[in-house]
Amino acid sequence: MPDVLVAGAGPTGLLTAFELERAGLDVLVLERDARPTTQSKALGLQPRSVEVLADRGLLAAIEPHVQAKLPAGHFSGLPIDYTDLPTCFPYQLGVEQAHVAAAIEARLRTPVLRDAAVTAVAQDDEGVTVTAGGRDHRAGWLVAADGGRSTVRTLLGAAFPGTPARISLVVADIRLSAKPAGLADAWQLPSSGSGYLLPLSGGRHRTIVFGEEQQRLGRGEPVTAGEVQRALTAAHGPDIEVGEVLWASRFGDAARQLERYRHGRVLFAGDAAHVHLPVGGQGLNLGLQDAVNLGWKLAATVRGTAADGLLDSYHDERHPVAARVLVSTRAQAVLGVPDPDAAAVREVVTGLLAVPEARRAVAAELSGIAVTYPGITGRATDVPAAADGRAVLVGAALPAGWADRVETRDGAGPRLVRPDGYVAWAGGPGLAEALLRWFGPPAAERPAPERATSTAGATT
Ligand SMILES: Cc1cc2nc3c(=O)[nH]c(=O)nc-3n(C[C@H](O)[C@H](O)[C@H](O)COP(=O)(O)OP(=O)(O)OC[C@H]3O[C@@H](n4cnc5c(N)ncnc54)[C@H](O)[C@@H]3O)c2cc1C
Repeated sequence: MPDVLVAGAGPTGLLTAFELERAGLDVLVLERDARPTTQSKALGLQPRSVEVLADRGLLAAIEPHVQAKLPAGHFSGLPIDYTDLPTCFPYQLGVEQAHVAAAIEARLRTPVLRDAAVTAVAQDDEGVTVTAGGRDHRAGWLVAADGGRSTVRTLLGAAFPGTPARISLVVADIRLSAKPAGLADAWQLPSSGSGYLLPLSGGRHRTIVFGEEQQRLGRGEPVTAGEVQRALTAAHGPDIEVGEVLWASRFGDAARQLERYRHGRVLFAGDAAHVHLPVGGQGLNLGLQDAVNLGWKLAATVRGTAADGLLDSYHDERHPVAARVLVSTRAQAVLGVPDPDAAAVREVVTGLLAVPEARRAVAAELSGIAVTYPGITGRATDVPAAADGRAVLVGAALPAGWADRVETRDGAGPRLVRPDGYVAWAGGPGLAEALLRWFGPPAAERPAPERATSTAGATT
């Protein structure tokens, strides 16, 4: 029986499983689709995500698929220079999401169980029973990373307040059979207008279109080549010709967030916990950061070494981060509205972003570098994570009783670094308090670990 079940083999679910396995847990990922997807919603990794993936040794497998290193992010299409960000990776990586997911999946110990859509969830005091692909699976915990239309969220009746979609957009990967002279062939930052075209590998182009026709058609309507052609002709003139639509989907600007990320033994992460207009390149990165925040806390809970309230600190730390992204993306959506008032606001914001301090603040936010939590003094990007998911204490003596949870290293600049790379203590008094707060009591004072019990009919 696995310690944890993960619903959804998107980037969030896969990285959560990776983090849990790294910490020594048995994990089973349940995925609805029969095969890994080759379609990519997201095309970019923000600097904080690149830091985390590099630290986990996952970046090397992604790098061959990187099409561009963009020294900027964007705020509703307005370029935001990243070059002076305090990171080794002051750029966005232009890479298709499917390659990020594949690189993580390749490193899992237990293969993803595919063709296994979650259809029922029951929980009791000792564990969860999840029905997926017609079979029951039992574990101590469930991580719901099953995307923006999360079945687990629906099954649990979890409150998902926010605003409904007011606009409708189409994303499509296409082959062009004719293109107008002067169409850029290099990877570039998105523009805010309909008909943005980005060259992908293998002669494909990514486009996002939104016009009157998209607002009129229902969300369930299939996207046709004719619809994409009409939108691209409107944006680029008569010389553009769509040869083939390889993949297309409709999306909107609904902005919603779970009230609580934890429902008993079920924890939500990624798009299952928060949805918003994908502007500014934030969603995938939020999910990856949810995963690294949750992984070590849930692992410690399963092992019985968690400090009081540690698992609940996942919601406390990550909910405000996504709430802020929802504010940012809603503001960006307003800036993109094609009307004179929005154009006036856009002009003012463009002026403000020319002020270096304002630009630096927005860059830090979009890149994920600004993310911090109460009691944390910063990121420790020069302290590689421990291979087994333990925390790392640099340049200080570890009191007796924590060696199973904290690796010690020599070095200058004393720091206690959580497994997600955030500094929980940076010298001076308070080391023992920080150890207790984040890693629980010393071994001798620890209660026995809990274990989930199996129930009749559960097959894993
Ligand atoms: C057009 C577009 C462009 C975007 N561009 C960017 C960008 O540039 N940068 C960025 O950061 N973000 C971007 N995003 C957002 C980003 O793609 C998502 O935030 C990201 O995919 C979230 O990952 P996830 O793993 O949480 O969810 P998903 O990627 O949705 O994965 C969920 C997984 O769960 C599976 N699943 C669903 N239901 C079940 C079930 N019942 N049982 C089992 N499995 C199930 C699905 O098959 C899927 O594999 C974009 C989104 C869109 C729509």
